Amino acid sequence: MMRKIGVVLLIGFTLLLDGCFGSKNGGPRKGFNVFSIEDDKQLGLQVVDQIASDPNQYPLLDSAQYPGVYQYLYKVRDKILNSGNVARKDDFSWRIQVINDDNTLNAFCTPGGYIYFYTGILRYLESEDQLAGVLGHEIGHADLRHSTRQLSASYGAQLAVQLLDGNLGAELLASITAQLVGLKFSRNHENEADERSVHYLCATDYNAAGGAGFFEKIEAEGGENPPQFLSTHPNPSNRIEKFYNYKVTKGCQGDSKYTAEYQQMVKQLPRQRTRK
Ligand SMILES: [Zn+2]
Repeated sequence: MMRKIGVVLLIGFTLLLDGCFGSKNGGPRKGFNVFSIEDDKQLGLQVVDQIASDPNQYPLLDSAQYPGVYQYLYKVRDKILNSGNVARKDDFSWRIQVINDDNTLNAFCTPGGYIYFYTGILRYLESEDQLAGVLGHEIGHADLRHSTRQLSASYGAQLAVQLLDGNLGAELLASITAQLVGLKFSRNHENEADERSVHYLCATDYNAAGGAGFFEKIEAEGGENPPQFLSTHPNPSNRIEKFYNYKVTKGCQGDSKYTAEYQQMVKQLPRQRTRK
């Protein structure tokens, strides 16, 4: 446990100095990761704790109060996990929580597979295959361990040395968590997560390019106000086209969208608290 805290605090310290996770030369090397699977889970849990302790910023939707919403999200999640294509299916949590904030169009997944959806994005999406596409993308980031790969590529050697001497101030934890929540992935990692999304959905009856729907809608609306999702998930070029290309290349046959079922779930969300 001491070691974990040391790792996390060092990251926070470095972030405060550097202020950016972004990789400078086309993204981190594949596979290079100084963190263990256990580290991913520990980091994820720290973010989970931080989110739970800050209900003003992260007003969580109570699963006991909204069982229908959660059952629906878990049904879609399980179809993805049972695709046989999620490498870390049995290693990570894959727990889902909904943040009751209609004005935030975002979803994210911590290291170790703790998934968060804002009600804003749930209301924005229009069908179950679109939800599955976004969910697949988030699962892909955790499955490929992008957060810790990115940390490793940026701070690998330094981190390895400091692991042995983790004795930095504990007050930095909140800022680290904020950084992990708002972690901005590289375009390379975005493409990889999109590809994983199609790969997972390909083994289901869903339209495997469901993830394209979100970006098509943004494009159709003119993109005047880029949603939060794009600040943490940068938009690689030809993203929509790539979703469809992956679907064709992988020979995915599914075409189900389950629009009516999805709209039923949306109706169960709490009344909108604010209107733009
Ligand atoms: Zn992403």
